[in-house]
Amino acid sequence: MNENTIFDKIIRREIPADIVFEDDICLAFRDIQPQAPIHILVIPKRVIAGVQYATHDDMDLLGHLLIAAKQIAEEQGISADGYRLAINAGDHGGQTVEHLHIHLLGGRPMQWPPG
Ligand code: AMP
Repeated sequence: MNENTIFDKIIRREIPADIVFEDDICLAFRDIQPQAPIHILVIPKRVIAGVQYATHDDMDLLGHLLIAAKQIAEEQGISADGYRLAINAGDHGGQTVEHLHIHLLGGRPMQWPPG
């Protein structure tokens, strides 16, 4: 398991990030290349390389991440208008960092289908 992704370095505070939420299980920080007025990444502190590697043992963790993302959306004031949660998995999914993360995007209307 690779514990040296850029996100692990953010968890260990080896590189800076604009952290908006943290608890024992997860960390959330602003994406460095925001694709919307609000673009936050919610990541588990425990390394899972991507959702494609998750198992039944990760069910509580995945639920925790979703509830955290929902709470952050409320705190960021985008809940009433709506927002998008996205998880990219693997090459065709557009995943570039091998540490599971949920994109929280909001502050503008989203389009469908995505590119
Ligand atoms: P994905 O393409 O789904 O793997 O998403 C990875 C995301 O991480 C991209 O949206 C990047 O802009 C973002 N990212 C990469 N490096 C950093 C960083 N140092 N701080 C914050 N976000 C980052």
